[in-house]
Amino acid sequence: MSLVPRLALAAALSLSLAANALAQPPAAKPSAADRTVQAVRASAGFKAATASLEREHDRIVAETIQLTEIPAPPFKEMARAQAYMAMLKAAGLTDVEMDAEGNVMGLRRGTGPAGAPLVVLAAHLDTVFPEGTNVKVRREGTKLFAPGVGDDTHSLAVVLGYIRALDAAKVRTKKDILFVGNVGEEGPGDLRGVRYLFGKGKYKDRISSFFSMDGTSAERVTFGAVGSLRYRVTFKGPGGHSYGAYGLVNPMAAMGTTVVEMNRIQTPAVPKTTYATSVVGGGTSVNSIPDAIWLEVDMRSESAEELAKLDGKFKQIVASAVEAENAARSQRAGRISAEVKLIGDRPTGATREDALIVEITSASVRAAGYTPILGASSTDSNVPISLGIPAVTIGSGGDGGRAHAVDEWIDVAKPESLKGMSVGLAALLAMAGS
Ligand SMILES: [Zn+2]
Repeated sequence: MSLVPRLALAAALSLSLAANALAQPPAAKPSAADRTVQAVRASAGFKAATASLEREHDRIVAETIQLTEIPAPPFKEMARAQAYMAMLKAAGLTDVEMDAEGNVMGLRRGTGPAGAPLVVLAAHLDTVFPEGTNVKVRREGTKLFAPGVGDDTHSLAVVLGYIRALDAAKVRTKKDILFVGNVGEEGPGDLRGVRYLFGKGKYKDRISSFFSMDGTSAERVTFGAVGSLRYRVTFKGPGGHSYGAYGLVNPMAAMGTTVVEMNRIQTPAVPKTTYATSVVGGGTSVNSIPDAIWLEVDMRSESAEELAKLDGKFKQIVASAVEAENAARSQRAGRISAEVKLIGDRPTGATREDALIVEITSASVRAAGYTPILGASSTDSNVPISLGIPAVTIGSGGDGGRAHAVDEWIDVAKPESLKGMSVGLAALLAMAGS
């Protein structure tokens, strides 16, 4: 995932910080959310829980390594899911299960009535890496290198750490908390795990707030959902000998026109709207007019309206390119056609900035000593956000980089790692009521 920082907000924040530094007015009055989070952090339960995280830090690191070394390519998360389900059970959750989509989950009962609204904390099981990728973790000091280690395996281990810490500290929340290791966050998975959770899962009508822990950055409060549409367009024609059948329509020409015309589209910088013509394939041999050529396209926007506009332009370009090629060369052996197949569709939207979950999470970031970075991204939270269910994506803590690359890394240096972990824990407890 990549983050689009709210530049205007960041600028406003840094301006007001600068003004504070100059004029030294009395410190800004803490908001209700700040007071709630400060009360959580000052509680004996929270202190005992963070002490447990500190004692257990080596175990969290060991479990990060253990889980990272179980490959979990898109649609092939089963082995890791089973291992994680066993760990959720060992951590003491009840109702531990795997649903029909492959998500694993377990419940931590609160003091409220059974069946009441609950809070979800989810991390995704899948990585972007295909089968056969070397997932052995290499450790250099406090740095761990391996594909998927930070996105999102460290979060899975931190969630286990939270569950054990809450038990060790005997923390009782008012609401139930559902802990989820979900499938299908990355590219081709198209959010299938969380879609199932909210569409068909047995808790679907009980989820009142949703945290996705994805990536390491503890400052991040992702409340906006960048929507995306992805297509594979297959241009088809009669094909034929490059010399003997010269003059026939060529699907590659229609594809080429599509690529050129698409890359002329101007999209707004705000709301950020993007596209990429990204993968191509097809053809028969160097001396054949191809009978099929395909192209994949990715389009994204923070605005559903802008995404729809771009989608319309794209489809128009494909249709015109097909017509132009049919007009440009001979159709005596057949015409060019285009099959436009939707291969990804992630909804757009945003949790209100004044929603409790956004204010609480921002307050948790501040209380840990960081400056919140509010932004929009494409994560599992897209699904609840599109349904109007308050959701944010947060980080697991510690430093990290090179996500989606084979040299992906995280830094598990203890003080920074623990400080980062305290953000999610405080936000979770504040939302679950303790
Ligand atoms: Zn991720």
